[in-house]
Amino acid sequence: MPQIAHDALIQLVAEMLRRVGAEPPIAQQVAADLVEANLQGHDSHGMQLVPRYVENTEKQLITPNALAEQVGGAGSLAVWDGRMGYGQCIGRQVTAAGIAAAREHGLAGFGLRNTHHLGRIGAYAEMAVAQGMIGIFFVNAVSGRPVVAPFGGTDGRMGTNPICIGIPKSPDPIILDFATSAIAVGKVKVAFNAGKPVPPGALVTHEGESSTDAAVMYGQGPRGALLSFGAHKGYGLALVCEILAGALTGGGTNQPATPNDRGIVNGMMGILLDPARLAENPGFAAEVQAICDHVQASAPGQVLLPGDPERRAKAQRMANGIPLDDVTWGDLSACASRLGIAEAAIRAVLL
Ligand code: NAD
Repeated sequence: MPQIAHDALIQLVAEMLRRVGAEPPIAQQVAADLVEANLQGHDSHGMQLVPRYVENTEKQLITPNALAEQVGGAGSLAVWDGRMGYGQCIGRQVTAAGIAAAREHGLAGFGLRNTHHLGRIGAYAEMAVAQGMIGIFFVNAVSGRPVVAPFGGTDGRMGTNPICIGIPKSPDPIILDFATSAIAVGKVKVAFNAGKPVPPGALVTHEGESSTDAAVMYGQGPRGALLSFGAHKGYGLALVCEILAGALTGGGTNQPATPNDRGIVNGMMGILLDPARLAENPGFAAEVQAICDHVQASAPGQVLLPGDPERRAKAQRMANGIPLDDVTWGDLSACASRLGIAEAAIRAVLL
């Protein structure tokens, strides 16, 4: 399995995006965020997306240098149209505005519609906690045929719809960031590429049978669906994401009248909250620490906090490189080559 140097990889991906029209700072941000997903162990949201981003830019489904435009809201509430720019830049732009509004008002909210893929939602929670804010994000994805079956159903009718909550804590924040599907759809692709099964309880065949075979989603036969995590609970959260991130923002939900041929389209509702305006300090920080210590003392060294697995993966991958499966590396290098990047420059990222 190829091992890749993260810094060289950022430069390669940025060059690829520049070649399809992204200005250097935008290309650099998108590339850095995609590589960060791999560094944090979320391979579903890193390099395997690059050929698709390139293709979507070439098909003009992405407006590479678009920034979000505020189209509504007042005071501490804002509605943004992402004008189909790269989600990594749009998401950062509107989150920064939300943090500034929360600094002024204590609590701020935004709706974001019409943005290309926002990637790893934890990136926006990390921005919030770095400014001492709590960040809460609900996201829906209207991107081709919906992949997640409702609880009790057998066909895809919703997106993988992530929820993310960041809470400041010293030295490391809590970053809870997951898809409401049993696993992210990109992880099914990673398993399919690697010829590995997915965990039980994540997939159903088109006939409603439980399956661990990733080919249910990516093989030649009739397509099955992903299930929500936690039975009716995850389903309920996925549905709420459709409503908060799709209906409330004006971006649209996965119902059939919403166009789903515009690439990877995300809607997001964000809430930024300044804990200093609600809870007394240091009481809040001390109480957060106390409950975290309490739960971790259940099995010392065994109980992690949300955000810990990503920090561990990042430390390991910064030191040893990012492992990419052969299919992902093959697709990425073929795409770079097609864009005219010299073979030697592509291979230079390999450790
Ligand atoms: P996941 O199932 O790996 O869960 C990750 C979360 O669980 C993290 O907060 C992690 O810290 C926490 N966690 C994991 N193991 C833990 C443990 N032992 N103890 C405590 N906490 C633990 O994540 P996922 O559902 O595969 O999502 C992966 C990424 O995909 C996320 O960054 C998400 O935002 C992104 N995503 C994006 C979209 C989109 O449309 N933009 C859609 C779906 C998912």
